[in-house]
Amino acid sequence: MTSQNIPSTISARKAAIAGSTYSGLVKGKEISRVAAAVIEVEEPLSVNLRFDINEGRKRTVEATIEGRVSMQCQRCLKPVSVLVKTCSTLTVVAHDEEAASVLRTTEPLLLDGDDLDVYSLIEDEVLLALPIVALHSIGQVQAKEVVTKMVMASVKEEEKVAWAHGLEVQPDELAEEPVKNPFAALKEIKFNRS
Ligand SMILES: [Zn+2]
Repeated sequence: MTSQNIPSTISARKAAIAGSTYSGLVKGKEISRVAAAVIEVEEPLSVNLRFDINEGRKRTVEATIEGRVSMQCQRCLKPVSVLVKTCSTLTVVAHDEEAASVLRTTEPLLLDGDDLDVYSLIEDEVLLALPIVALHSIGQVQAKEVVTKMVMASVKEEEKVAWAHGLEVQPDELAEEPVKNPFAALKEIKFNRS
């Protein structure tokens, strides 16, 4: 059974027995803990939850989440778009001891009762997947491109980003040196000789 929306609560037992899969989009306002941790959830997260029962007869949830959030770059303090992509299989456990027993092989999902708070699960998974430090990535190759573009006198956003990151690109280096007329130079030499 596949559902095209993500309910806020799912009966983990029923879903596991039925082998249900839930797919849908989750907006930033529905996952407030994520919204609070980032500048913004750029687009609704694509979420897929697949319920099953494993060989140990425990309920499992395979959670696949993908989307983009913007975070503050810790180098230039401007927003940087971060891809969130996570997939983990969680084993539903009733208490901490049980959690400890499954911890070696799988990620436990502590569930008091049968109702799974879906948004809370999504929040936990996304928060775990977020980088601790977000940074713009600008490799040396891109830096070269930046130089080329700057020579062409076009200042675009990524170049500004490069500047903010202190890439070794100085405006003075890029300013073309006035090319001396070779004949003028020759004249100078002749003049100095006579
Ligand atoms: Zn940055």
